[in-house]
Amino acid sequence: MASRVTCSHCDKPSVIDIKYAGRTYCKDHFCKMLWSRFRKTIRDNGLFVKGQNVGVALSGGKDSTVLLYLMHKIARYLDLDLTAITIDEGIKGYREGGLKLSKKMCKDLDVPQVVVPFKKEFGHTLDQIARKHKDVSACYYCGVFRRYLINKTARENGLDVLSTGHNLDDEAQSILMNLMRGNSSKMFRIGAKVGIRGFDQFVPRVKPLRDMPEREIAVYALLKGYPADFHSDCPYVRDSFRDSVRDHLNQLESEFPGTKIAILRTFDQFKAAKADDAPLPQECPRCGELTSSEVCKACKILETL
Ligand code: SF4
Repeated sequence: MASRVTCSHCDKPSVIDIKYAGRTYCKDHFCKMLWSRFRKTIRDNGLFVKGQNVGVALSGGKDSTVLLYLMHKIARYLDLDLTAITIDEGIKGYREGGLKLSKKMCKDLDVPQVVVPFKKEFGHTLDQIARKHKDVSACYYCGVFRRYLINKTARENGLDVLSTGHNLDDEAQSILMNLMRGNSSKMFRIGAKVGIRGFDQFVPRVKPLRDMPEREIAVYALLKGYPADFHSDCPYVRDSFRDSVRDHLNQLESEFPGTKIAILRTFDQFKAAKADDAPLPQECPRCGELTSSEVCKACKILETL
């Protein structure tokens, strides 16, 4: 008779095998474990203060969808007011699906949503920029403009803090990418809570999902039946350095379970020791946003478009 794998905590069938923890989980125990890890990350890092206005960066993909639902649940306990911010980069055949789903989720959960298109702010969609500048990865423009816009929108909407759906994979990839490129100053942007003390223009960002692997977030979204966009892939993703780092890291994780969490924990220990050395930013003389260089990257790119 075929043996079935059961949960490490009860005799129900397992829905997921978490190799780095050496455990299997049934649906109930897995969902409880993920919810409690979410609360632990918030508690251990002091991510929110009761009564805050909190932004949720919502693309409609699985990570930001899980973030929105978990934030909606915890908002009741912490008396938080949520506002979703959705950036429309203008990527034809990809962004439309996530946008539609994000609007439905916000309506279902009664969370106000602000949608901000690249086209309206910068005069170009990402597709237009990518067509014109084939020599540079579209992800470069996308990342710079998205960070710029999300901070500006959060500030203009009076939000105290902005939560993003960065997961363990994203964080481990960022650590390795910055190491490999020698971007030591960008390392200070990695962490559960990133912000710049004493600069009101910068809305602090928090990452309540950063201890959770992407795979576990995807399984959670499926088990909960959340209406996330699982199927669309950004057409530019294969151009990016991050994509290559992702593939290598996934390979290492499958051979040596626990690699990603070990990268994150080691980085956090180093960062805690060096936090006071973080370079201070200055205002961009053109747009007033914060930057670590003389003129901010968004203004420099706009010059070339
Ligand atoms: Fe933007 Fe690159 Fe992500 Fe596509 S893959 S949404 S271009 S960062």
